Amino acid sequence: AKEQGKNNYQIYHSSMNIQTYKTFLLEKDMRKALLENEYELYYQPRLDAYTGRIVGIEALIRWNHPEWGLVSPSEFIPLAEETGLIVTLGKWVIYEACKQNKTWQDLGLSSVPVSVNISAHQFMQKDFIHHIDRILKETGLTPKWLEIEITEHILIENEQVAVTTMQQLQKRGVAIALDDFGTGYSSLSYLRFFKVNTIKIDKSFIDDLSIDSEGFLIVKNVISLAKGLHINVTAEGVEQEAQLHILRRLKCDQVQGYLYSKPVPAGKMAELLRRGILP
Ligand code: C2E
Ligand code: CA
Ligand code: CA
Ligand code: CA
Repeated sequence: AKEQGKNNYQIYHSSMNIQTYKTFLLEKDMRKALLENEYELYYQPRLDAYTGRIVGIEALIRWNHPEWGLVSPSEFIPLAEETGLIVTLGKWVIYEACKQNKTWQDLGLSSVPVSVNISAHQFMQKDFIHHIDRILKETGLTPKWLEIEITEHILIENEQVAVTTMQQLQKRGVAIALDDFGTGYSSLSYLRFFKVNTIKIDKSFIDDLSIDSEGFLIVKNVISLAKGLHINVTAEGVEQEAQLHILRRLKCDQVQGYLYSKPVPAGKMAELLRRGILP
């Protein structure tokens, strides 16, 4: 009976844990990738909606996997969040983005803030501010050229800590953007807690942006809400000329999307910065 129990256990074990094992292997690969320099930041410009001038740059991580090629962050960021690797990976992202932005400035390219996406777990680390300070000091980047993109998830973990951290960032001159605005349940109530510098209207609303659509009404009102609160508005995922025209009519400040540029490697971003204004 004892023997049988053991066998049963083994069968159960092997069939139920394939997924866990895959996850384990992937996590191991992701850690190794950090040492092997397989991660790379791509950059996407944020533009003035009226002039096409580059007013910001968002850093977006990619994984150059030796066998799989370029892996998108939606494939590995969720696992990095689950395992806690996001803290180490996230530090690398901030460092790399700040260093790159400083390099561009030193080359005499126009100075714009670089935005970095920060997971809730990373943002809520006790020493998060300390790391930001250290990275800014090490790279020599002036705080106002760094922006932190967060989602409302950070408030769910611990409101008080989140608000304090945001205040400390802004005190230093680091800007805060509220990403994916409108997708969560508490986007609006978030605005009562804290005055962010920028709201990024989620792509899903922009996708549905034709006159007399629901999306149109929502975007129109989010923009006027933001204006009333003196918060900048960026529309994400702008792909079509028609969307840009509607956004201009609605007085949206800034746009980001494939219409102007996909995320590109640093070298290509330097070229775009050299042009300054995109057609
Ligand atoms: P996000 O922060 O909302 O970034 C915008 C995503 O939309 C990016 O996908 C970008 O490439 C894509 N995008 C931009 N314009 C367009 C457009 O016109 N059309 C379409 N279809 N897509 C557009 P990406 O680079 O795959 O990143 C996906 C998500 O992964 C990001 O969403 C962000 O939440 C996360 N992420 C990316 N890099 C990092 C990072 O360094 N750290 C953390 N924590 N998360 C990251
Ligand atoms: Ca973002
Ligand atoms: Ca977003
Ligand atoms: Ca998103």
